[in-house]
Amino acid sequence: MKQVLKTILYIVLTLIAIGVINFGFLIYKAKNGIPVYESRAPKLPAEMKDFSVLLFSKTNAFRHHGAIVAAIPAFEKMAKENDWTLFSTANGAVFNAEQLAQFDVVVWNNSTGRVLKDEQRAAFKAYMEKGGGFVGIHGAGDGSHRWDWYEDELIGARFSHHSLQPQFQLADMYLECDSIATFPCADLASKWTRSEEWYVFNTNPRDNGFNPIYTVDENTFNPSGNLGSLITNKDFGMGDDHPIVWYKELPGGGRSFYSALGHSGKAFAEEKVLELLKRGIEWAGQ
Ligand SMILES: [Zn+2]
Repeated sequence: MKQVLKTILYIVLTLIAIGVINFGFLIYKAKNGIPVYESRAPKLPAEMKDFSVLLFSKTNAFRHHGAIVAAIPAFEKMAKENDWTLFSTANGAVFNAEQLAQFDVVVWNNSTGRVLKDEQRAAFKAYMEKGGGFVGIHGAGDGSHRWDWYEDELIGARFSHHSLQPQFQLADMYLECDSIATFPCADLASKWTRSEEWYVFNTNPRDNGFNPIYTVDENTFNPSGNLGSLITNKDFGMGDDHPIVWYKELPGGGRSFYSALGHSGKAFAEEKVLELLKRGIEWAGQ
């Protein structure tokens, strides 16, 4: 009997140890990413329509699996309805000058981590500097990319944390759309209440010359990212000015649009989320 109890104890301890190691690995991966790179470029469609979109869904850090797999068919449907070519890939080797030149817009579909190697990064930066279009969704701005140009010039804000008390909360967003906006925002909802895992940024994209389209009202949710005794220094938000969707025309004619909305797959069934992303894609691809 003693032997049986001992065996059970060992099994339980082993399972706990495996659980702790797995959890530690997930936290490490979400924060730092584990880079895996590709060298062989994918084959693009033989014919590209007038408006073509590269949907890039590679993750080397946290993977928003539900959101990514829900977004792909939603964008495929959008492309069909609007007569775009949509090329969907998780292959970072598509980031080469020749293939990028085929696309009006590159969408980072919850792409996280160091997803591009140096020459691929250089090709993407050159594409944006020559007038390319960028749309980033949620995790694309999560601070795991470890790339100063990407975070400061393209996303425009440094990620701090996301809401954890609780993780998903209903909150009110407000439209910011002035008469000089080049983004087609005039008829978007002026107040929009929805549930999200709310991102908090250490820097305000407004200070980097980005134009918020929606801000989220911190009086309507708790932005704290503290988690028991595991995370104790993230009990803050961005105060009165908390941008959550924004855009910027970049030097050289490139255009960047970022939306921190889209943690869960359900977001890609929301009409308003899809309408905003469609406009982001069309605007960025001009
Ligand atoms: Zn998320």
